[in-house]
Amino acid sequence: MIKHLLKQSKQSGLEEIEQVKFLIISKIAYFALVVHALLIPLFAHVGAITLALVNILSVVAWGSGIFLIKQGLTSLALRVFCLEVLIHAVVVCATLGLDLGFQFYLWTISCILMIDYQLSLKRAALYSLLMITTFALLYIFFNDVPYQYTYPQLIPYVHLTNIIIAGLPMVYAIGLIREITLSQRIELTEMASRDPLTKLYNRRFAKKLILATYRKSIEAEQSLCLVMADIDHFKQINDTYGHDKGDTILVNITQAICEFLNETDIAVRWGGEEFLLLLDNTDEHHGLQKIEALREHIATLDAHQELPNLSVTMSFGLIEWQPLASLESMLQQADAALYDSKDAGRNTTTVVKAFCLQLDDTDAVN
Ligand code: GH3
Ligand code: MG
Ligand code: MG
Repeated sequence: MIKHLLKQSKQSGLEEIEQVKFLIISKIAYFALVVHALLIPLFAHVGAITLALVNILSVVAWGSGIFLIKQGLTSLALRVFCLEVLIHAVVVCATLGLDLGFQFYLWTISCILMIDYQLSLKRAALYSLLMITTFALLYIFFNDVPYQYTYPQLIPYVHLTNIIIAGLPMVYAIGLIREITLSQRIELTEMASRDPLTKLYNRRFAKKLILATYRKSIEAEQSLCLVMADIDHFKQINDTYGHDKGDTILVNITQAICEFLNETDIAVRWGGEEFLLLLDNTDEHHGLQKIEALREHIATLDAHQELPNLSVTMSFGLIEWQPLASLESMLQQADAALYDSKDAGRNTTTVVKAFCLQLDDTDAVN
């Protein structure tokens, strides 16, 4: 139910919690209005005329609150409801005693007050404590008030019903906070791990992911290729067509790269127009085939729909991850191979033949 309500409200953060709270309070308000309306004839029937009159006022209070909610004054409505519950609980306990359990609604509103973000934390905590103190005072002043009306045999059932009804909004409020905290944590992790323009993993987050993939490959005795990729002359593209078009080109190229990769491969925005690709379960030979196909695809790609004559190329440096080699040394070698591709005239893939070879022992393909 809470998840459903969260889906209904598309905002995030405090706006989201306010929106969901609005939906919940509206539902509770209608429910409370009906309950209090039903209590009027019931109290009249058992002879508690004062309580019947108090319930008329309660109906007015809940009705006004619903009106305030419709006007967008949810927080004010919430305070009207809290005041109503406070007065109602005190009057009912003073008249009927504590056996019916109406005092438990004070716990409910003390909980609800704490999620009223229009109240400062200090104020919310103060009001909340006031409700709990009132609850305790009811036990001091009205513990001996006997129930003197009809149907005394119903007392345990009313007591039980009141506890359950009072408990539900508390469980609901805590459940709501739990769901929102969880969804915000997921949202924050996503935000922290992804680059906002291309939506690829960013460099900071990627290292953990790369190492985890490496460990998995070692355990499965599979090969893994690490590829550094960089767009050629991107500064020139920016200077000629503008930064905005440059951004779109970057996004389109990212999309082309992602379409080429398998589900278990990883693409990272390593820097400005530089990418790191991790080809899972791929040896040097197949890695080169794949990257060459990607390089050729990008060279013929419509990198920007408004620039049909524009041809964008990329250069690549590829290394098959050698067992026991550190990530840093693999990155260094792949980077050096990329720079060899640049030196070789760009739009090229350079493969590091083996980890032990020096930087100049590489093969350039184009
Ligand atoms: P090379 O072929 O040697 O890689 O040349 P280059 O021009 O691509 O390389 P250089 O490092 O000189 O320039 C990279 C450019 O990429 C400069 C920078 O403005 C641009 N760039 C980096 N990040 C972004 C981005 O997010 N959006 C846009 N539009 N441009 C970016
Ligand atoms: Mg570049
Ligand atoms: Mg670069």
